[in-house]
Amino acid sequence: MSIYTIVIHGGAGTILKEDMTPALESSYQKGLKDALNAGYDLLANGKTAVEAVLAATMSLENNILFNAGKGSVFAKDGSQEMDASIMEGKNLYAGSVSAIKNIRNPVELAYTVMTKSPHVMLSGKGAYEFAKMQGIKMEPDEYFFSQFRYDQWKQMQGSNETALDHNVVVKDLPAGQAGKKFGTVGAVALDIHGDIAAATSTGGMTNKQFGRVGDSPIIGAGTYANNKTCAISCTGHGEPFIRAVAAYDVSCLMEYRGLSLEDAMKVVVHEKLIKMDGEGGMIGADAKGNTAMVFNSEGMYRGRISSNGKNEVAIYKNNML
Ligand code: ASP
Repeated sequence: MSIYTIVIHGGAGTILKEDMTPALESSYQKGLKDALNAGYDLLANGKTAVEAVLAATMSLENNILFNAGKGSVFAKDGSQEMDASIMEGKNLYAGSVSAIKNIRNPVELAYTVMTKSPHVMLSGKGAYEFAKMQGIKMEPDEYFFSQFRYDQWKQMQGSNETALDHNVVVKDLPAGQAGKKFGTVGAVALDIHGDIAAATSTGGMTNKQFGRVGDSPIIGAGTYANNKTCAISCTGHGEPFIRAVAAYDVSCLMEYRGLSLEDAMKVVVHEKLIKMDGEGGMIGADAKGNTAMVFNSEGMYRGRISSNGKNEVAIYKNNML
């Protein structure tokens, strides 16, 4: 029987065990496991990789702990603008949305752009109008609000700094609530039919200029899938990932230089991105059933399940939970 597998991430950054309480750690583990199972159950029932990455990413978007959908970070003007994308490896179809507000599941809108429009990318007001026409679920601002991300933003408000949400230390919060550990989300999967897909969704970076678009909705930068090579979803400081065309570069290293999935990801994350101050990581899968989770930061919320028995979630460097 052919292998099927799903890998997810919930963001990378300065995620340290000493900043975590046991209760918060188990909430993250549960969030990761729920998302993995949402995708894996579909794969086990013969559904497609694209359906699996959509379900896993939506599960993470609905979890306030992660910086995507509900619980997204705040931009400079106090708004919560989100980006998301999805791509199918068998036909290179893709859909993406950027700088959108009040959409409950940005990745679902990206999927709808891919399946119900002739376009690849929609942004801002146009994306919102399209979502209304398609009957996509909307939510008021309050739905997306979380106190800890609001406090993170308050600490940076008025400065010209932006930060990966995991890297903002919020002072004067109870242990375990310090703001280092929330993240962009993504999934990659291989289905029983031998097809791969990738999806990514984010609130972006804390205190970003409103209207700023990160790597997550940019096909080839934060997300890429091609059955010939790999499916990749990235997380980290978006600007270097865009300049490095990070996700597509992994595909190129595999296609043109014959590197394995993991070796190609290591070249991009540990060599190329490091030279550009590109902190973060990525998850990957290929059509043969190989998977990898590579990052150059202190930690990355991550996990994978595979029909060959692999089943794990992890948070810190060198520390599988
Ligand atoms: N890559 C995202 C962005 O720059 C942020 C993240 O991964 O946390 O928008």
